[in-house]
Amino acid sequence: MSDKTRPEPDERRIDTRLVHPPYDPMSMHGFVNPPIVRGSTVLFESTAAMLGRKDLKYSYGLAGTPTTTVLEDQLNELEGSFGTALVPSGLAAVTLPLLAFASAGDHVLIVDSVYAPTRSFCRQVLERMNVTVEYYDPYVGAGIADLMRPETSIVFLEAPGSNTFEIQDVRAICDAAHKGGAVTMLDNTWATPVFFRPLDHGVDLSIHALTKYPGGHSDLLMGSVSASERTWGELLKTQTALGINATPDDISLVLRGLKTMGIRLRHHEKVALDLAGWLETRSDVLSVLHPALPSFKDHAAFKRQFTGSTGLFSLVLDCEPAGANRFLDALRIFGLGYSWGGHESLAVSVDLSDRTIAKGPGQGALIRLQIGLEDMEDLKADLERGFAAMAG
Ligand SMILES: *Cc1c(COP(=O)(O)O)cnc(C)c1O
Repeated sequence: MSDKTRPEPDERRIDTRLVHPPYDPMSMHGFVNPPIVRGSTVLFESTAAMLGRKDLKYSYGLAGTPTTTVLEDQLNELEGSFGTALVPSGLAAVTLPLLAFASAGDHVLIVDSVYAPTRSFCRQVLERMNVTVEYYDPYVGAGIADLMRPETSIVFLEAPGSNTFEIQDVRAICDAAHKGGAVTMLDNTWATPVFFRPLDHGVDLSIHALTKYPGGHSDLLMGSVSASERTWGELLKTQTALGINATPDDISLVLRGLKTMGIRLRHHEKVALDLAGWLETRSDVLSVLHPALPSFKDHAAFKRQFTGSTGLFSLVLDCEPAGANRFLDALRIFGLGYSWGGHESLAVSVDLSDRTIAKGPGQGALIRLQIGLEDMEDLKADLERGFAAMAG
């Protein structure tokens, strides 16, 4: 940044860093937002420049354009990472680092409360590559040391766990994994870098579905992997070999989303927590799985590691599956749909049949709610409609 009157990035608090990406408007005639640079071909001044292209910042559009660089740099600032790779979906942000660090004959450890499509990738691709995949208890902590083998190359974490919100002891797991020579990666989609910075807790690679809160409006798919200095080279090599990146048009939407993500998250946080507190007082709700609720069993582990919570949590309805379907079908504001992190509230039934260790609540019907930006009283009235229908 050429403007020396601005504070250095590290002196600025998170909301300021979300609003001001590392881009100098004066480099673009004062335009506040970076331009959308689309492109495949990059022209060279001479054959000498072409031969020396490895030293140039841009030589082909597949590695990104100046628009890509702004988002990569902003995510590096937010995550405290050395390098960030952008990819076309959150799921691609999971599969890229797994492909970068797993080789035939390796053993990898995946948390059992992982996002279900991560498990499908391990089954359908890693196992076919002759990688041994083992699932571990989210509460393993330093005990992960007992599961490490000489050939363990990756320990994969996700905190909180998908749909069931188990909180892992990130530092203890990473320390033991590193002692055993493995690389650690954590799916940080739920917390965003506003509420958790994995690299500060010993994680090597922080994974995001930018589709969720960074995009924030359910109109794009994108993922990011933010890497430590030690792991960046290998990650970039694999990204380049696979030929995947994100489009500058969608990147500009994520850059826009990040500017309001701080205030959006604080609203999602407050309304979700208020509704979770109300839900847990109801006799037709067996329990509410929300890490920021003092009653949640992992609340202390959550408070110790996270600085805030977002708008996604689950509840267990005291009913049979048919009652849960009546509950969902009666909702008029909450939509029935996958994904989350957008402006609109959503509800889905959760299937935990892929779990082998973290089997969830065991009784009742598990429903996941994404709390959007609507009026809280309207959302409450909508849920009341659901409860009335559930009672039959
Ligand atoms: C949604 C999600 C993903 C995948 O993101 P897509 O952009 O939908 O592919 C990955 N991890 C977690 C935890 C998610 O919730």
